[in-house]
Amino acid sequence: MSERGSLSRFRLRRALDNLSSKEGRGTELISLYVPPDRQISDVTNNLRQEYGTASNIKSTTTRKHVQDAIVKVIQRLKLFKQPPPNGLIIFCGAVPRGPPGSEVMEIYSIIPPEPISTYLYRCDSRFHTDILENMLREEESYGIILVDTSGATLGVLRGRRLEIVREITSGIPGKHRAGGQSARRFERLREMGVNAFFGRVSEYADEIFLHLDDLKGILLGGPGPTKHEFQDKNKMHYTLKKQILVTLDTAYIGEQGVKEIVERSSETIRRVRYIEEKELVQSFLYELGHDTGMSVYGYDEVLNSLDQGVVKILLLSEGLDAKGVDLSCSVCGKQSTRTLFGPDLLKFEENLNKEICTECGSTSLSLTQERDLLDILADLAEEKGIDVEVISTETEEGSMLLRSFGGIAAVLHFASR
Ligand SMILES: [Zn+2]
Repeated sequence: MSERGSLSRFRLRRALDNLSSKEGRGTELISLYVPPDRQISDVTNNLRQEYGTASNIKSTTTRKHVQDAIVKVIQRLKLFKQPPPNGLIIFCGAVPRGPPGSEVMEIYSIIPPEPISTYLYRCDSRFHTDILENMLREEESYGIILVDTSGATLGVLRGRRLEIVREITSGIPGKHRAGGQSARRFERLREMGVNAFFGRVSEYADEIFLHLDDLKGILLGGPGPTKHEFQDKNKMHYTLKKQILVTLDTAYIGEQGVKEIVERSSETIRRVRYIEEKELVQSFLYELGHDTGMSVYGYDEVLNSLDQGVVKILLLSEGLDAKGVDLSCSVCGKQSTRTLFGPDLLKFEENLNKEICTECGSTSLSLTQERDLLDILADLAEEKGIDVEVISTETEEGSMLLRSFGGIAAVLHFASR
């Protein structure tokens, strides 16, 4: 299961939404970005200095909150001998729950999906999540090829960052043949020139695009008909040939053309993930429709199949509104779990004091833990090395997954019944 999968993206997105919504009462929320090559002892020393600097803060509450947060971050850092390969991000601070005095110290550590390049310590009224937000956008990449008779431009779009990797001239003879040259000979020379040019562009494309981690497709463009010719005659690796998403007219090659094609492909790019999602749900619907026994849906059935180890892909809807709660009886100590969907959770919490312990019959249950059902199921699947896909509700298939199948479905390796 790749770290760049839809599940880790979903989790990071959810964590960021949560973090960016928090606001401190004063300038007292700490964000710490530690690059992989930074010594933990360096960071700790730096934080001790910040602790000293914080003693100048006038407001006693803010000063206490900042210093408490720094101590907590230092404690958290002790869990690491060195930063993980991509570095480490820690957010910590006193977050208000209501009126002044209601602040609760919260701490989050996040391992970023890409390496962090710079060290950052910031104390602000908000958590500084921009760097992570950008990483989230920058996970997917697209190859860009622009060709016309004069040359070619190859570039990479990663998130919002555009990079021109190579520009080459075509070497194709001009449109007009030299005096005395026969038309046939001119055509042959031109043909050879075109082939050699396409060959070179293909080689560069293989070199640049084949080892990109998460290449989602190739955008092909340029003025005139050369791009269509290239689409037919290119010698790129067969996997790249299949990844050409669009062929678009642009006024230029070069930097201007690259900007133009990216602008005009935004809709296509947005749809790529949607197409993936549609296909994932359709593969489930296919098994279901053909009654192959290789699909299950709903919490109980999917859980059962996960336990049996027969799940190939687990599909979870982003809109799944359900929680698993852990309960503990204060009389007999019995631990139990419940799964609650949507509004049931609120009702359950409100009436918890009336719930009866199945072991001793008393009404002394308390809630010890509450987790999204999506996480519980995803963790179960990941432990077993099963692919997990988190599906948005942006497509018809995605909203069908939520509405008709309870947001939980799976395609199996083989029929389980
Ligand atoms: Zn009990």
